Amino acid sequence: MGANLIVTGLVISAMPMGEYDKRITLLTKERGKITAFARGARRPNSQLLAATNPFSFGEFELFEGRSTYTIAKATISNYFRTLAFDPEAAYYGFYFLEFADYYCQENNDEKEMLKLLYQTLRALESEKYDNRLVRAIFELKALAVNGEAPNVFGCLACGTRECLCYFSVRKGGILCNECRQMAEDAWRMNESTVYTMQYIISSDIAKLYSFAVSEQVLEELQKMMEQYMKLYVNHTFKSLRILEEIG
Ligand SMILES: [Zn+2]
Repeated sequence: MGANLIVTGLVISAMPMGEYDKRITLLTKERGKITAFARGARRPNSQLLAATNPFSFGEFELFEGRSTYTIAKATISNYFRTLAFDPEAAYYGFYFLEFADYYCQENNDEKEMLKLLYQTLRALESEKYDNRLVRAIFELKALAVNGEAPNVFGCLACGTRECLCYFSVRKGGILCNECRQMAEDAWRMNESTVYTMQYIISSDIAKLYSFAVSEQVLEELQKMMEQYMKLYVNHTFKSLRILEEIG
């Protein structure tokens, strides 16, 4: 019998299986996104009962079978329990988990996405940040991690770094004042919004949640992300529907 494998990860989804078991999806530092079985995890006295709930982050000891992983033990360092007492924040949290589940592939290095998800859930728990801002930052950074972020560092037509204040979703980025006619859908964007997007895309994930923005900048970020995701991601997230109903 081989040694068990120890991974650091976050539970991004959990499904009941059979009478007492669960099947969970873990986003791990070592193996990317994996599916694992937690036998007996729904028995009231199981050590794995809380450890296999969404948002649980910690060390998981896995038995690696020929085609499946089974959880032997879990040592949770953060359950993100605050989210359980704040339904609105919890829906945002579920949306971020669903987003990561949709975006991450099995057998792919997802270290950055795991880091982003962890920092985002911490920001969601903090009173300091508006949840709408946390969402816009998460979405934009997740696209950046996957190399799909809009181009906002220079004009898409002429390359200048000056007067970057028109955003075109169809062109996939920013145009300067002179080139704005190049895209019919270009709309005027506050320079602070452009700067905020540049910061989100280029910043270290550890320093990502460190600023606040004006209501105007927040609304422009939301508008930009909504248009951008509609055109380029084009996927219906179940948790987002609930979020939009309560928001
Ligand atoms: Zn230009």
